[in-house]
Amino acid sequence: MTHPAEQVTKSFEHGEILYLTCPSRRGGDYLVAVAYNKQLNTIFVGHDCPAIQRGSNCWHVRAAENAFKEWRWWEVPEDAKVRSIRRTDLKFLPEFKQIPVPGQPLNIPGIGGMTDGSAKHDTA
Ligand SMILES: [Zn+2]
Repeated sequence: MTHPAEQVTKSFEHGEILYLTCPSRRGGDYLVAVAYNKQLNTIFVGHDCPAIQRGSNCWHVRAAENAFKEWRWWEVPEDAKVRSIRRTDLKFLPEFKQIPVPGQPLNIPGIGGMTDGSAKHDTA
């Protein structure tokens, strides 16, 4: 927990799409949508933030990839590609169902910090 600012705060499922909220340094959250296209073997990450507006990388895409692979581990092969697309039209829908953030250790007293060993801990 050395970089609490770079951590997915909430996660929601809607059909086969995973939605994540990532905290912004300026306050508020970014909404990130993640979906897997089996024919293209590609994980699509859609969101909008200052980094993606400049065409550079951001931790949101890595966090989304990792969370999605945890969420649908049986579906996404190791060699799946990741494509980041800018989406400015994402918004919360009432039918989103909140779920625990995939890949993050559950904060349960006594067994806190327990992971399955596959979670990646990016510090960049
Ligand atoms: Zn971003």
